[in-house]
Amino acid sequence: MGRGVRRIVPLTLGWADLPLDVSIFGAPPDRRLREPVPGVLLLCDGGWLLLDTGYNTALITDPALRRRYHGDPLVQPVLPGPGEPLPEALASAGIDLDDVHAVAVSHLHYDHAGGLRHFAGRVPVHVQRRELAYGMSGGPEPERNGIFRVDYDDPRISWQQADGDAEVAPGVTAVLTAGHTPGHQSFVVDLDPSVGGGGFVFACDAADLTENIDGELPVGGFVGVPPEETVVQIRKLKRLAAERGYRLVPGHDPVAWPALTRELAARWPVTS
Ligand SMILES: [Zn+2]
Repeated sequence: MGRGVRRIVPLTLGWADLPLDVSIFGAPPDRRLREPVPGVLLLCDGGWLLLDTGYNTALITDPALRRRYHGDPLVQPVLPGPGEPLPEALASAGIDLDDVHAVAVSHLHYDHAGGLRHFAGRVPVHVQRRELAYGMSGGPEPERNGIFRVDYDDPRISWQQADGDAEVAPGVTAVLTAGHTPGHQSFVVDLDPSVGGGGFVFACDAADLTENIDGELPVGGFVGVPPEETVVQIRKLKRLAAERGYRLVPGHDPVAWPALTRELAARWPVTS
C-alpha cells in the first residue's frame, strides 16, 4: 500500500490525419479522422514515468526525410507547433525533461517511439523484448509496418526488456497485448489511496478508439496475426479493467482523449 501513482498528466504530442480503417479493420476507406498522438506522465515513487513519446520531429519537418518516412498521402502526421512537442508538453505541465526518471513505450510505431532520442543515455526505457527484437530484425518489413529504426536503434538507449506482464514502476504494470505489433504492451495504472485510489487501464494501440472497445472491433493494424486476434486483446483489457473497476482508455480517440485530458487537468491542476 501507499505505492500507487499520485498524479496522471495526459499529453497530446501531435495528431494523425488518417482513414478510419487504420483504426477499425474493414471500416469504409473514405471515412477519415484526426486522431490525437498521446503520451502519459505518471508520478510514481521514484519520479515521473513517461508512457510513449510521440513523433520524431525531424522526420516530419525535414522535406527529404518526410518524403522518405511519411510519403503516404493518406496517413499524415500533424505537429502541435514549430518546436519539439515533448519538451514543450512537459514544460506546460511544469515538468522538466530531467524530471522524467523512466520511459515505457507501448510499442515501436513511429508515433510512440519517435521521442525516444530525448532519453538516450539518460533513463531506462521499458519495452517488450519481442517488440525490440522485431524492430531490430533486418529487412524492410518493420519499416513497412510503421516501425522506423532511426527512432530507436541507438546504443545509448538503456533498454529494460520484459517478457510478458511486468511492473515497470510502483503502481504501473505493463500487460502484453501483442497483435497490433509483435510486442505491444498496454498499462494498468493503480492510483495511490492518498489521491483516492482507483485507476486506469491505458490500452494504447490495442484499442485505438472507443468504438474498438465498445463494439469489440479489430484494429486496422496488426503484424503476424489475423485481425480477429486483436479483439482477443481488447477483451482481455476489458476484463482487467472490469475486475479492478478501472476505466479503459483507448489509445487514439479524438473524443475520449481530450475529455480525459480536461478531467485530469481539473483533478490535478498545474501548480509549478
Ligand atoms: Zn501503433
